[in-house]
Amino acid sequence: MSQYQAVKGTRDIFPEEGAQWKHVESAVHRMASLYGFSEVRTPVFEYTELFQRGIGATTDIVGKEMFTFQPDPAGRSLTLRPEMTAGVMRAALQRNLLSQAPVHKLYYISELFRKERPQAGRQRQFTQFGAELLGASSPAAVAEVVTFMMQVFETLGLSGLRLRINTLGDLEDRARYREALREYFRPYEAELDDSSRERLEKNPLRILDSKNPALREMIAGAPRLFDYVKAEGVEEFERVLRFLDDRGIGYDVDHLLVRGLDYYCHTAFEVTSEALGAQDAIGGGGRYDGLSKELGGKEMPAVGFAVGMERLLIAMEKQGLFATLNPRGPMVYVVVQQSELADHGMEVAFRLRRSGISTEIDLAGRSMKAQMREANRLRAAYALFIGQSEFETGRYGLKNLVTSEQTTLEIGAIIDILRETSVEESQRG
Ligand code: AMP
Repeated sequence: MSQYQAVKGTRDIFPEEGAQWKHVESAVHRMASLYGFSEVRTPVFEYTELFQRGIGATTDIVGKEMFTFQPDPAGRSLTLRPEMTAGVMRAALQRNLLSQAPVHKLYYISELFRKERPQAGRQRQFTQFGAELLGASSPAAVAEVVTFMMQVFETLGLSGLRLRINTLGDLEDRARYREALREYFRPYEAELDDSSRERLEKNPLRILDSKNPALREMIAGAPRLFDYVKAEGVEEFERVLRFLDDRGIGYDVDHLLVRGLDYYCHTAFEVTSEALGAQDAIGGGGRYDGLSKELGGKEMPAVGFAVGMERLLIAMEKQGLFATLNPRGPMVYVVVQQSELADHGMEVAFRLRRSGISTEIDLAGRSMKAQMREANRLRAAYALFIGQSEFETGRYGLKNLVTSEQTTLEIGAIIDILRETSVEESQRG
């Protein structure tokens, strides 16, 4: 064993699990293309100020979870991205995307970094898939991203999910509400825990996020943000809910849902999974119309979501959704009978691969028996035998490893058979 270990809060993914990732990723890519979202990739690090402005200085993420570094003493501070929205918005503004078309629908599958205390379902490097719809945040736009997200879960077969949804009103509603919360909590100041007391002045909405059971009753009695939302905000929210009703998407309206990030407004939502433990949030999102302006751009309505891939995979595993996932082996394993024919074997393998047929061949000079064992272990569909007579006649033995049927054919005919099988398999998906 090496003396080096992976950094705490990070993990390696090996082929078996890799197949699960690929399965989920391809469902995301497929759904994105059905909904007309295009992939965006942004750098892993950005200037620290982007996140300070874009996420909000009073949030936990910016306050204590960012991996920040200074490349040189005179250089500007950099931060590994702790979420995607700020970077995507920065990129959209930098490219002036909205001057090309009024609405952009972007999605991503990306690694993020947060200095959190690692535990099950909580890592320091993790992955999210998500979408950002820029240029619109109408009830239809909100419904579009929520439906996209929920349909990914549905195609993956995930059950036991709960979608909670709320409206946060606009900035003005929230300012009035913040004041009301301060007034409500102030008389209880002595009973609050340290972090809630700190939040009281800076960002009292965050007190509602507290998981401290001692505060539960106090929080339950707090004024509701919903009562501070103007009539048009409430009406918009109801239209979002109607869209979801029409799509048959179940939800619970939860007036305590506020989400940690400052830039959310109006609709916010979160999905939890009963298959997960303490860290049961699998994804969430909402409208962030204020972000563009916050970053120095023009007013830009926007709505998005992000889903934690690791948690999604944990939930799927717990629900046995990978049990039938059978990663396919190579189409053919080229078995070389004696070492003098190894070069010829490589040439045949090369030809097969050039013809679009997935091919494996021994690279370690193993015996024929060991090669056959390997072909079975890899679950190859066929074995192609290369012996002296095959080499001389150009006709090779082809064995179907499922039925054990064997034929002797020229390479062209073999390619035709294997190609046909490959096409059939890929059509079966
Ligand atoms: P957030 O950006 O905090 O709203 O997170 C969105 C989703 O990302 C959450 O619902 C989780 O599924 C996932 N997530 C957030 N933080 C972590 C983390 N430290 N480790 C693993 N997944 C995370």
